Amino acid sequence: MATTATYTSPPAEKTWQDHLLLNEFYPPLTQDTVRRSPMRELISTVLSHRTTHADEELAYDRMLEAFGDWAGVLAAPTAELAHAIRTTRWPDTQAPRIQEILRRIWAERGGFTLDFLEEWPTERGMQWLNDMPGIGLKTASLVLLFNFRKPVLPVDTHVHRIAQRVGMIGPKASADKAHQVLLEQLPKDSLVLLNFHKHNYWHGQRVCLYAKPDCLKCPLKGFCNYYLEHYGPATEEALAATPKKWDPDWGALPH
Ligand code: SF4
Repeated sequence: MATTATYTSPPAEKTWQDHLLLNEFYPPLTQDTVRRSPMRELISTVLSHRTTHADEELAYDRMLEAFGDWAGVLAAPTAELAHAIRTTRWPDTQAPRIQEILRRIWAERGGFTLDFLEEWPTERGMQWLNDMPGIGLKTASLVLLFNFRKPVLPVDTHVHRIAQRVGMIGPKASADKAHQVLLEQLPKDSLVLLNFHKHNYWHGQRVCLYAKPDCLKCPLKGFCNYYLEHYGPATEEALAATPKKWDPDWGALPH
């Protein structure tokens, strides 16, 4: 797909073209792909902070193996819980945090479930999750988008970096600001937001790397500010040589 955006396009136009091009470059997702239960999504996202996916999964499995279920995790001695999740970055901080989250859910809902969020308006659910210790906009958005198809946008470090480099947001806009600006620029359609989030997440992990972006491979080069600054305007040859789709031979896409 040819892009209609240019280096001087308004940020909202760049955001939409980013979505269209990456939706073609990477496999599009459907909303049937709920990857894990709401409780698991919430607690796993707490565990994942600055932690690899493999270490997060290991911590989650060890925690449930050691304590059986959420009631067991809540009742566990905090030091033992910290030991079980020791593959995460800050187990001594995360263990009491997880127990406080579980305590609040139990106290307010009478069970370890988040299913009530399905019925709640998006803003109310976002606020409720956000009030939990250690739950920021990103985690709250992940739970609401992935599990309840609410029209919100998780902005992780990859989405944030690409939005800055391309010029969808200002170069100094914070992740929380990016969350607000990108959401205003995109349709309030959870399928679009799901694909935008995942595709930019994959792109940040595989192409637009923090240390050394692989711009040759990138379909966004025709309107990306970073590309313009480092290489000048993309030539017709450079655009023609850009792959149209992710090649599985380059490696597996992240989870
Ligand atoms: S052109 Fe380069 S800097 Fe811009 S989004 Fe693509 S990989 Fe990232």
